[in-house]
Order: sequence, then structure tokens, then C-alpha cells
Amino acid sequence: MIRYALVCDAAHEFESWFPGAQAYEQQVKRGLVTCPVCNSARVSKAIMAPNVARKDRDAPEAKSPAPAQEVALLDEKMQALRVMMREMRAKIMEETTDVGAAFPDEARKIHEGEAEARPIRGEASWDEARALLEDGIEVMPIPPAPEERN
Ligand SMILES: [Zn+2]
Repeated sequence: MIRYALVCDAAHEFESWFPGAQAYEQQVKRGLVTCPVCNSARVSKAIMAPNVARKDRDAPEAKSPAPAQEVALLDEKMQALRVMMREMRAKIMEETTDVGAAFPDEARKIHEGEAEARPIRGEASWDEARALLEDGIEVMPIPPAPEERN
């Protein structure tokens, strides 16, 4: 037995039991299913309005917090990353000597023992940095400060 919520063409809602879905279809087609209020035989399955409404309301609620949380987590990670980069940059700035554009030459000299060994920073193009790395000289890009752009 299947219980269907039905509605007639006058919008009366009622429930009725049927042996099965096919029996329901046949009985409605033959006009055997009638509205208990107005006796209309033009009935159809009612759209379960309360359920539909609840589903519609629940669906965005169930979904939206997840992406919002993901964004929040990302923001936190990015925030932590920025703090880390800023601290790293500050440490590099504090512990290195700025040699400016002479960096590639100076780094190579230090590597070859021709200059005093000390941590330095300066400017190097990607090609120059790569050439240094290929010669076994450890260089690393300084994290950019969020406020200023290098
Ligand atoms: Zn009716």
C-alpha cells in the first residue's frame, strides 16, 4: 500500500491509500479517486509543499557554511604565510649586508674566497641567480614585503 497526498483541481488536499503506483494512476484515470470535499475526480499528487520548502531552506544552509569556512581557513593560512614572510624578510634584512647590483659578483667572490664571507643581499636577475645556483652558490629570493614591491 502506498499513501499519496493528493490535491483536487479546487486545491483541496487529502490523502488516499492505493495498492501501488500503477493502481493509483489507473484509478485517477478512471475518475475513481475523488476529492472528499468537493467530489471532483480531477485529482493529482500533491506537491509536498512543507517538505519542499524545508529542503529548499535546508540546502543552502547545509552548503554555504562549508565554503565560507574554507575561505576563512584560507585567509588564516594566507595571513600566517604573510606574517611568516614578513618575519623572514625582516630577518634577512637584519642579518645581511645590502650590496645592491653588485650581488652576483659579490656572491661569487665570497664563494671563491675572494671576499669576506658574510651574508649579503642585493639585486640579481633570474639568469644571474640561476647562474649562481648552477655554480653551487646558494641564493634565495627575498620574500617581497606586502606593502612594498621589489
Ligand atoms: Zn476538492
